Amino acid sequence: MNKDNETSIHEFDFNLICEYFSSIDRQGPGSESMTGKALSYVGELYADSRIADLGCGTGGQTVTIAKEVPGHIYALDLFPTFIDRLNARVVSNGLSERIDGIVGSMDALPFKEETFDLIWSEGAIYNIGFRKGLEYWRKFLKPGGIVCVSEASWLSESRPSEIEDFWMDAYPEIDTVEHKVRQMKEIGYDVITSFVIPENCWTEHFYKPQRKAQKIFLQNHQENPIASELVANMRHEAALYSKYSKYYGYVFYIGKKD
Ligand code: SAH
Repeated sequence: MNKDNETSIHEFDFNLICEYFSSIDRQGPGSESMTGKALSYVGELYADSRIADLGCGTGGQTVTIAKEVPGHIYALDLFPTFIDRLNARVVSNGLSERIDGIVGSMDALPFKEETFDLIWSEGAIYNIGFRKGLEYWRKFLKPGGIVCVSEASWLSESRPSEIEDFWMDAYPEIDTVEHKVRQMKEIGYDVITSFVIPENCWTEHFYKPQRKAQKIFLQNHQENPIASELVANMRHEAALYSKYSKYYGYVFYIGKKD
């Protein structure tokens, strides 16, 4: 295969992934009530507070944050398609004055250092890694600013090899809650709290909407092997979750820049 073919197949893949995930409200496990719970640990925010929502996807949690707390939200994602969806959602919720959608990368932030009261990231820091993200983002927080991220974590000290192997391949930085909390402290945060989000954030709010979206997606891309592979992968991931949910989950980690 020549390089041009590789590139075009890659782009095709990328467009399909964007189409698949932009057809659902959330791109990761979570819920409005868990976003609200995490916000309850953040402390007082004001109309002039500055909030970054990094890896915001189509903005599920962005809108919740805007409804729950005051402040201006800079919602950033790598994929323009997701930011388009977010912008439409912002307009339909009458939140244009409160939220700016930005296409950009979470490891090259287009912001000034020490300017944020709160940095939020649900199910997205894994893209650059928990440690790297927390270290890099810390510079953008004002002194005493808060970071709040959700991250895949082991919920037990040991686990069956099938699920261990799956995660080691997908995200080798997955670790126990205790270890992640220790890392946060080493990086320079006072850890306010950590909590596991409940199973319905995966089953009801993440995998269930995908079941309907998958049918439409497969109809739209009949006989496209990349589309069927994508759906097969997502179904496999959901099946693994229903089998092994007691061993891993998403955990919110909330810390204050010390
Ligand atoms: N927070 C959303 C989306 C989580 S999925 C939710 O919980 O629904 C992870 C998101 O990270 C995707 O939207 C993906 O496009 C985005 N992403 C991946 N790499 C990124 C990067 N380098 N910079 C910014 N966003 C990135």
